Amino acid sequence: MPDLLLNEEEKMLQALVRDFADRELIPRARAVDEGEKFSWENWQGMARLGLTGIGLDSQYGGTPGGYRQIAIAAEEVGRGDAAASVTLIAHLSLGTTTMHRFGNEEQKQRLIPSLAAGTGVAAWALTEPGSGSDAAALQTTATKRRGSYYLNGSKMFITNAEVAESMVVFATLDRSQGYRGISAFVVPKGAPGLIINPMHGKMGMRGSSTCEVVFQDTPVPPENLLGEEGRGFRYAMEILDSSRIIIAAQCVGIGQAALEAAVRYAQRRQTFGKPIAQHQAIQFMLADMAAQVHAARVCTMTAATLKDNGLPFLNEASIAKLIASEMCVQVASQAIQVHGGAGYFKEAGVERIFRDARATTIYEGTSEVQRLVIARQVLAQYPV
Ligand SMILES: Cc1cc2nc3c(=O)[nH]c(=O)nc-3n(C[C@H](O)[C@H](O)[C@H](O)COP(=O)(O)OP(=O)(O)OC[C@H]3O[C@@H](n4cnc5c(N)ncnc54)[C@H](O)[C@@H]3O)c2cc1C
Repeated sequence: MPDLLLNEEEKMLQALVRDFADRELIPRARAVDEGEKFSWENWQGMARLGLTGIGLDSQYGGTPGGYRQIAIAAEEVGRGDAAASVTLIAHLSLGTTTMHRFGNEEQKQRLIPSLAAGTGVAAWALTEPGSGSDAAALQTTATKRRGSYYLNGSKMFITNAEVAESMVVFATLDRSQGYRGISAFVVPKGAPGLIINPMHGKMGMRGSSTCEVVFQDTPVPPENLLGEEGRGFRYAMEILDSSRIIIAAQCVGIGQAALEAAVRYAQRRQTFGKPIAQHQAIQFMLADMAAQVHAARVCTMTAATLKDNGLPFLNEASIAKLIASEMCVQVASQAIQVHGGAGYFKEAGVERIFRDARATTIYEGTSEVQRLVIARQVLAQYPV
């Protein structure tokens, strides 16, 4: 992040998280990827720095900050280990923020402090086997009986579910009402009829846990309904709109990691009697990579700044998510090219960055979905 865009406190946060990434996340990243399981060491490190509660009110144990601060943290964590950043984002800007934004006072006092402190992890379950981009088509039902809700159905690709203390779950009380039938519930760890099946074999982000979640008549007491019945879909969309900014920041971090690896390698590797960094073709590739990372970072911080100032930000958030996710896939691929054959092997680390990057154009709204949002806004701006 260029210094001119950050104030002193933001620079301190950036330096703190960057140091943590250099000392802890980067040295562990390859083993975490190969182990393909949630890293409690990484999680506890993020919790120690207060990253698990950024932007949540201090009365619930949160750390002061807005989307700019969360973006700075997500970029630096993403630069260190993308899987750690997706874990943090699912916990903070999806799960915990939904409870913080839409929960009542009793719920916030009961649920948030352990999540903010990082002694508990949050998950957020919207996607199902039959509905991802078309989230309003979800099929998981909530039925009211004897004063409680009972959930039946299944969710797919849910980050953190395996380790979550609390999971926000979207289910419909009335399928005939479409998106208006959907409500948001908090399901605690160990609830009866809650079955969590870790999904293995991910291409990247292997240090994050992704699960299928099944509900077999899982009881949810009325005090775990978030907000009002029938408003869950709107809550989910509002949360995704903002969280997109944080995914964009994660992508900037992934792109930055790829760029740094490529620059370092280009200065060491010699061909035809000189470092490859002295060949203009390589210089141009590095220049393109740096320009793309910078452009994505500016878009991301613009969206975060608009959001923090209460200004319209939806278009900017979708643009940032689209540009930053496509950027990090391309920059990671170029980093492999700069490495030549070495880049194709695990040792260099860039193939992991590439595999991690590939998920980002898919989750929290695919690139196609971002284009739909942006196109809608552009067409509305210039009516005939
Ligand atoms: C690593 C990982 C972690 C995840 N974590 C979570 C999580 O914590 N919680 C959660 O709820 N979900 C999570 N997801 C799910 C993710 O959000 C969905 O995979 C994503 O929204 C896409 O949905 P889908 O997979 O059903 O694809 P589909 O919606 O079936 O899309 C398939 C293809 O069709 C395209 N497409 C669909 N509709 C249109 C359209 N109208 N116009 C043009 N193109 C279209 C898509 O862009 C895509 O290319 C995660 C996914 C991954 C990979």
